Amino acid sequence: MDRRTSLLGALAVGCLLCVPSGFSQEGRQSPVAAWRRRVQGMLERGRLPLIDLQATYISEASVQSNPGIVRSGGKASDVAQMLRWMDELDIALLAFAPAFASSGEPSLALHRAHPDRFIPTTSSGEFARWWNDPVAFVRQSAADLQTDDYFFMGEHEFRHYPSPEQVRAGQTARDITVDIQGSGGQALFELSARTGVAFQIHYEIEDNLLPPLEAMLQAHPKARVIWCHLGQVRYPERNSRYGPSYVRGLIERFEHLHFDLAVARAGFVYTPSGARDSTLFGDDGRIASAWKQLIEDHPQRFLAASDYRPAVEKNYPQQIGHQRQEILAVFTPATQRKLAFENAWRLITGSDWA
Ligand SMILES: [Zn+2]
Repeated sequence: MDRRTSLLGALAVGCLLCVPSGFSQEGRQSPVAAWRRRVQGMLERGRLPLIDLQATYISEASVQSNPGIVRSGGKASDVAQMLRWMDELDIALLAFAPAFASSGEPSLALHRAHPDRFIPTTSSGEFARWWNDPVAFVRQSAADLQTDDYFFMGEHEFRHYPSPEQVRAGQTARDITVDIQGSGGQALFELSARTGVAFQIHYEIEDNLLPPLEAMLQAHPKARVIWCHLGQVRYPERNSRYGPSYVRGLIERFEHLHFDLAVARAGFVYTPSGARDSTLFGDDGRIASAWKQLIEDHPQRFLAASDYRPAVEKNYPQQIGHQRQEILAVFTPATQRKLAFENAWRLITGSDWA
């Protein structure tokens, strides 16, 4: 996002008199320079740096003020452990999107403490503030972006089945539907189109959900959408259309649509349906050739990512290992760089890595 786009955004939301309180234009360059040094340092050591854009952050303060987090099996993110993992696993940058907070401020606090590692990110739409009032949620994200302190927006659940750990805990409340064509969805897509700041969606892969998403992409061609969990099909009988050729068609029609690769291992079975939900992988456990070809043909549209969340944070090294060994390693070196960090770099800074 350049300064001009950002200011136009402020004007478009009616902020004619307000002065952005956060980074000046020069101020936005300072974190980007620190991030560049960290990425470059890893490259110089012969490593493949990874920029992880899909991660949910729960601060200690949020846990203190929301006792329900612990009651439902949640916990705060272990930031000290994450700092160690980032160095051990060559994670250059992390977009830690805050959940259970009233704004994106916990992400800014992390960034202030570790400016070379954490990308200021607006709230994660993975808790009740989003489901209960998506319009108010987007209004807060717009206010956050207006400060010019943020570079990215979190994951927003439009259709979400309980994740594996929620199934184990019997948490049926995480069966979420937010109408993507409703006023919250419209506001979110408009906010991204206006500011140039990318956001993530969680959207199950089912025949009846595809036309509404296509209509939104058509109506908001400048919105920068990352559709998380490429090829994660939890109920196969509900999908007859989505596959490599369908995704290829979307990529050809919508120039700002991206996909992330935060998926389970090949053999993982989603208990409620009994389905092996990572459809990227064939029965031999390797990425199926049609998916591999699609990613090699459009390497600028896909991003490695972890789907970190505190409840399963101990799995982070395995998730990153899976991204590197089962996914990144099968591609050409140029494609690996795009998937690992160059595409994420472009989305957060607005410029190509060069
Ligand atoms: Zn998700």
